[in-house]
Amino acid sequence: MTRREYFTQILGAHTAMRKAALMAGLPVAVLSTGATVWMFLLAKSDSSKFAQFAAFALPVCVAAIVALFLYIDRVFSRSSPVCPSCSRHVRVLQRRRVWRSGKCVYCNCQIIEQ
Ligand SMILES: [Zn+2]
Repeated sequence: MTRREYFTQILGAHTAMRKAALMAGLPVAVLSTGATVWMFLLAKSDSSKFAQFAAFALPVCVAAIVALFLYIDRVFSRSSPVCPSCSRHVRVLQRRRVWRSGKCVYCNCQIIEQ
C-alpha cells in the first residue's frame, strides 16, 4: 500500500468516525452535562443527596465516555487499512505510529511501501 492509499483510507475512516462521534457523542454530552448541573444544584441544597447522586452519576458518566471511545474506535477500525500479514485493522491511537514507521504495530509487517 502506498502512502497516498493509506492516507485516503485513513481519511475515510476519519469521516466515519466523526459521524459516529457526533451521533453517539451528543447523548453522552447531554448525560454528562445534566449530571454535572444536577450535582452542582444538589451541592448547594443537600450534601447527603449530593454524595449519593455523585456516587451513582460519576461511574455512569465515566462508563458512558469509555463506551463512546470504544464505539468510535470500532467505527474507525472498520474502514481503516488492514495489515496484509495478520489482517488486523489500524486503530485510532495507532494510525500516526503506522504512518511514521510504515509497519504494523502487532506483527511489524510492512503496511506502507517505503
Ligand atoms: Zn500485522
